[in-house]
Amino acid sequence: MIPVSKPLLDEKELGQITEVINSGMLAQGPKVKKFEDDFAKYIGTKHAIATNSGSAALHVGLLSAGIGRGDEVITTPFTFIATANSILYCNAKPVFADVNEGDFNIDPAKIEEKITSKTKALLAVHLYGQPCNMDKITDICNKHNLSLIEDACQAHGAEFNDQKVGSFGTGCFSFYPTKNMTTGEGGMITTNSDEIAKKARIIRNHGSQKQYFHEMLGYNYRMTDIAAAIGISQLKKLESFIEKRISNANYMTNHLQKIKGIIPPKTFNNRRHVFNQYTIRITDDFPVNRGEIEKVLKSNDIGYGIYYPLPINRQPIYEKSNNDNFPVSERLCNEVISLPIHPSLDESDLDNICTVIEGI
Ligand SMILES: *Cc1c(COP(=O)(O)O)cnc(C)c1O
Repeated sequence: MIPVSKPLLDEKELGQITEVINSGMLAQGPKVKKFEDDFAKYIGTKHAIATNSGSAALHVGLLSAGIGRGDEVITTPFTFIATANSILYCNAKPVFADVNEGDFNIDPAKIEEKITSKTKALLAVHLYGQPCNMDKITDICNKHNLSLIEDACQAHGAEFNDQKVGSFGTGCFSFYPTKNMTTGEGGMITTNSDEIAKKARIIRNHGSQKQYFHEMLGYNYRMTDIAAAIGISQLKKLESFIEKRISNANYMTNHLQKIKGIIPPKTFNNRRHVFNQYTIRITDDFPVNRGEIEKVLKSNDIGYGIYYPLPINRQPIYEKSNNDNFPVSERLCNEVISLPIHPSLDESDLDNICTVIEGI
């Protein structure tokens, strides 16, 4: 069986965990501090603040930018539910703008028409590890004075014009086991702003800087030292993981681009796509529909994912308050399928996947 994703851990992580267990300090402590310092250095931001999930990072990221009741936040409907939910957690309103089919990310040409006097922030998602067009996105945010929050939960190490995503605005990362690096569960906020960093640290810890004094509403969103210990060694391996993902993705594209009806993921000269997912589109020109491809992959023990089958605006808790429609997202929901390219796959695995698809 070839799974669609697989975390890679070994005795390096075990050694780190053993250190934590021997120290007796299991909750947030020195390992979290070290992981934050290492991660900030990697992304190129002044600060990094660890949380216990990517969803918590998004929630804290928005709160730290001052998002609250009555505010509108523009985002994409073609993403994981946590992106939009984090806006609801703040009692703010998600306003969706459709994506473009070239990079699957929010279409800069469709953002400005969604801006109202209530719009406070843009929550951009670097989906599958492909950076958004950050030139256009930062221009729009500057012009309209919007806070920029980046959902980089799938995009550790992705770059636009040689700058890491998560450093353009407030970056939010996840370390769930399917991501490019893991801590089991975990997240991180990255920022160059002293003020946002300070607020994020307070919100993460029950609104408190000084023990048992609580200056605002906060949460227990702290990361454990055990998770941070895993993160410290995963971060050291991240670049080698990414390089393997990129070469696996290139290998797949070289084979699949010859097949009529398959559109492999696009790459851009000034963007580093880190391929958390390798997602192809199946168009009407392909001899069978996506459901048939799923059956063939299943019967050949090849894992795959449909990320995502339904745009967020049509999920039950969103559909009542959204009567816009998003034709590009709708179409992509019906066309996309993600294939395994994780770093533990070798050429024979990739060959096997391509041969099975070519045979359909
Ligand atoms: C994984 C993910 C999240 C949430 O991260 P968790 O760590 O699972 O809470 C948010 N947004 C996107 C795009 C993701 O892929």
